[in-house]
Amino acid sequence: MAVIGAGVAGITAAQALANQSITDFVIVEYNDVIGGRMRNTKFGSDSDGNPYVVELGANWISGLGNDTLDGPENPVWTFSKQVNLSSANSDASSIVTYNETGAVDYTDILDEFEEYWAIFEQNAGTILTENLQDRSFRAGLWQSGWRPKGDAARKAVEWWMWDWETAQTPEESSFVYGITGYNLTYYAFSELSYFSVDQRGFNTWIKGEAAKFLEANDTRLHFNTVVTDIEYSDSGVKITNEDGSCVEADYAINTVSLGVLQNDAIAFEPELPDWKQDSIATFTMATYTKMFFQFNETFWPTDKQFFLYADPTTRGYYTVWQSLSTEGFLPGSNILFATLVDEQSYRVEAQDDETTKAEAMVVLRQMFPDIDVPEPIAFTYPRWTSTPWSYGSYSNWPTGTTLEMHQNLRANVGRLYFAGEATSAEYFGFLHGAWFEGREAGERIAGMVTTECRNVESGCGNYTSYEVLHGTTDFSEVNAFNGMGVSPLFVADTGDEEESDA
Ligand SMILES: Cc1cc2nc3c(=O)[nH]c(=O)nc-3n(C[C@H](O)[C@H](O)[C@H](O)COP(=O)(O)OP(=O)(O)OC[C@H]3O[C@@H](n4cnc5c(N)ncnc54)[C@H](O)[C@@H]3O)c2cc1C
Repeated sequence: MAVIGAGVAGITAAQALANQSITDFVIVEYNDVIGGRMRNTKFGSDSDGNPYVVELGANWISGLGNDTLDGPENPVWTFSKQVNLSSANSDASSIVTYNETGAVDYTDILDEFEEYWAIFEQNAGTILTENLQDRSFRAGLWQSGWRPKGDAARKAVEWWMWDWETAQTPEESSFVYGITGYNLTYYAFSELSYFSVDQRGFNTWIKGEAAKFLEANDTRLHFNTVVTDIEYSDSGVKITNEDGSCVEADYAINTVSLGVLQNDAIAFEPELPDWKQDSIATFTMATYTKMFFQFNETFWPTDKQFFLYADPTTRGYYTVWQSLSTEGFLPGSNILFATLVDEQSYRVEAQDDETTKAEAMVVLRQMFPDIDVPEPIAFTYPRWTSTPWSYGSYSNWPTGTTLEMHQNLRANVGRLYFAGEATSAEYFGFLHGAWFEGREAGERIAGMVTTECRNVESGCGNYTSYEVLHGTTDFSEVNAFNGMGVSPLFVADTGDEEESDA
């Protein structure tokens, strides 16, 4: 067996194999560390001169689980507790609002948007259950009565409630699958999210999982190994690496990101079938950029977590700022970070650090006009779009595509399987999506090579492409997903039920 990638999906897939006593596997990984897009860096320094560890990639355990209702628990939360991960409650209501003149209270618009959310859910639920045509999130908002028009404060609120999570605009995103995605994580688990401030790095939890089935310096884990070619058939898979080495396996699980697949970083032999290429082209890889600043003092309110800025001309321009200097996070660190996504990310990725720092400082000085805002003593941001082992941050579901197209993203070709956050219909974009998909692919393969198929509920054996299943390429006919490996949880809130039933 071969697993490509030692991110969450890759480690979990190998663990699923090991749990069914399949121990003759190798994991090939581009980098020299486990965790993939759970990536951290050393940044700035504390009063003793030691650097802080900040997360460039995933940071939140999104949706913990509801102990009192005995509901499901997010596996990321389960395993984070096992390694005593240091994390803080990320409280979206701990927020101050600003515009280009300084602090201006428009928190009432936040409450207004929250009220609209129930209407969005109801309308998306109707579209899904009546099998109507999906539309853009923007169209869904408009039809539900939310119309920010030219109002900068409304645009900032909308950005914070939508783009800040999905990393794409309402115009670029699916209404139906955007809402279902939100519901499935935040209602099925819980609406609580915790933010990792663990100085060992957020990836400590997946390293903990890896240590359950890999030895220290396990020879089955090949770091610094870049896969360039994959040959697949119904009888096996051959993986060739940049250094000329190769792995021949009965089955392989490819966990590289949708961005890597879209950037032709790996050549497939034979070429991937049209239905697979169509789905790779259809789903989108979004970019989410966290920009870190350390100052020699905390000049912003220390009792708040978030600072929302409404730029007078440009939507999404340094809209959300977040304090790490707040109690429960890294108090005294004097670290603040801004988040940019999508076009604003692409723009800053193309310019040098000094230019970006200078424009961000103009915004901060507008937000705090009565304070002599100092220059930062440390500054950094990643360029996810051009990172060659990721090519973007996480996937998003575009407007007007179908579960069938998504099933094709997930389906195997011969003995080559695909798993990762993007292949999760329920939890795309999230760490737990990668975890469930890795486990599913590992268990499917284990079920075929041993006598026991453990994932009976979601289906054993091949992931069948829509065309093979229905003998057609006409996606307009059916919007059914029974028997296609999509869990029955995949139902939008129609507004008639309690939140926890969604
Ligand atoms: C900026 C950012 C913020 C995020 N915030 C959150 C958050 O707060 N909460 C949350 O739940 N999720 C968040 N996510 C998403 C989360 O990080 C991903 O969903 C998850 O880590 C994906 O795991 P994966 O195993 O599917 O893919 P990856 O983590 O990408 O793993 C794939 C692995 O394959 C390796 N690889 C790639 N190409 C090759 C090759 N050619 N040869 C060999 N190996 C290769 C990569 O190095 C990588 O280790 C965020 C992501 C980013 C980037």
